Amino acid sequence: MDYIFPPIARPSVPVRGQTRSFAVRRIFCVGRNYNDHVKEMGGDPARSTPFYFCKPADALVPDGATIPYPMLTQDLHHEIELVIAIGAPGRQTSAADAERLIYGYAVGIDLTRRDLQAAARAQGQPWDFAKGFDDSAPCGQISRLADTGLINEGRIWLSVNGAIRQDANLRDLIWKAPELLSNLSHGVALQPGDLVYTGTPAGVGALVPGDRVTGGIDGLGEIGVTIGEALR
Ligand code: MN
Repeated sequence: MDYIFPPIARPSVPVRGQTRSFAVRRIFCVGRNYNDHVKEMGGDPARSTPFYFCKPADALVPDGATIPYPMLTQDLHHEIELVIAIGAPGRQTSAADAERLIYGYAVGIDLTRRDLQAAARAQGQPWDFAKGFDDSAPCGQISRLADTGLINEGRIWLSVNGAIRQDANLRDLIWKAPELLSNLSHGVALQPGDLVYTGTPAGVGALVPGDRVTGGIDGLGEIGVTIGEALR
């Protein structure tokens, strides 16, 4: 194929202990998947159901990167999340069968322009610009399911400059991996290379230039990124 300009390199995520990387196709994200985060955002868990939004695959940021403070926001927030890496096709997959879709897991951060999200919510507008901006998807190394086994519980945490901001347990996910992947696969045909950011627990908060952000999940290691000055 001859292109007008050179296509970008395929976004990818390194895999722990492997020389080959995980080529990323799409990034799906889940909103409102922990009750305590629904509450801190002013919602009522009893009247709330998790839902989806997307980020572009080229919004991925590797462990160790410095991320320029994004354009258009005065309120950049961190959201620590378990990321599921999809390794097999899944269309209308049952929860009982969904484990076979999982290639592995990673620690991710769903960076959010909270002020734009609040404005979009108030006006019934889409979240794309609040969620799917440049460098909005830090993702650490993928650990293979073959190495970790199924991960259904464990501590998930995030610190800023060494101070803990988010500290929860994966067992508090409303939609856990099997039902989440089954539900999602009834809306889109999941494909190898898809990433699913599974939602954030309570404790989200603002980041400013110079902040050192570290997050971790039991058994999956850590991710660290630094927020840099805004590009001019
Ligand atoms: Mn999120």
